[in-house]
Amino acid sequence: MLTDYHLHLRPDEVGEAAEYFTQENVDRYLAAAEEQGIEELGVSEHIYRFEEALELWRHPYWLDQAVDELGAYCEFVRTTPLRLGVEMDLIRGAEDRIASLLESHDFDYVVGSVHYLGEKGAVDDRRYDAWESFSDADSLWQEYFEWQAELVRSGLFDIVSHPDLIKIWGEDRPAPERDPRFHYEPFAQALAESEIAVEVSTAGLRKPVREIYPARALAEMCLEAGAEFALSSDAHAPDQVGFGYDNALEFFRDLGVQRICVFEGRQRRLEPIGRTGLDPEELEDRGAEA
Ligand SMILES: [Zn+2]
Ligand SMILES: [Zn+2]
Repeated sequence: MLTDYHLHLRPDEVGEAAEYFTQENVDRYLAAAEEQGIEELGVSEHIYRFEEALELWRHPYWLDQAVDELGAYCEFVRTTPLRLGVEMDLIRGAEDRIASLLESHDFDYVVGSVHYLGEKGAVDDRRYDAWESFSDADSLWQEYFEWQAELVRSGLFDIVSHPDLIKIWGEDRPAPERDPRFHYEPFAQALAESEIAVEVSTAGLRKPVREIYPARALAEMCLEAGAEFALSSDAHAPDQVGFGYDNALEFFRDLGVQRICVFEGRQRRLEPIGRTGLDPEELEDRGAEA
């Protein structure tokens, strides 16, 4: 089985919910998935697109973005074959409010994300750039992975998304001087004590870093910590569904990972990795050809 759980029906910054939460739009995502042998599709819209997010944080970007209704979104997704998820940011100090918000809807899974290091800014948005709050790459990387570790330990989430999003800018920003594995360590330790799945996201291939999240060395540390993986593209449009999945399959094969997480009603199970309609031997052949 292949999954694409971290999908956005709504592109960033654009349009009205009514334009994107439609059967027609969902059909485009489903068709793209079927073409690629992706069996399980789920949507995880950003929490900050919803009015309810302002009970958690009143960041200027959120004040601008939070216009949709979470209940209406959930109801709509339940009229489609998509799994129902949400991409929830970790907001320090709002953990109890996050928990009760998540409990009040019947999500299949919750994707947990660190985009913002609180008031220190965003790691993936130049308008609120966290790099301006830190004197060097090492202190920023250290703080980012402390946030990731905290996200894991919070127990609020089923999947930790784009686990090394901090590398998004690639060579546009300085690399840490320390071995990145030093920075990964607190995150890996938290994983060892948690049931959360680690997202393998092909979105990094579309970003300046041009690399899957997580880096190979980080993925190895996740494995050593006993973590299981979830697979997603973080698509914001139908033509991004399953983007770069051949690379992801190769990534899993190189790591020796054979199963991925599948979610329903916030319960997870493991399924063998493979495109629908292809038997494992065929996949082996494809691997050998690649
Ligand atoms: Zn994200
Ligand atoms: Zn996302």
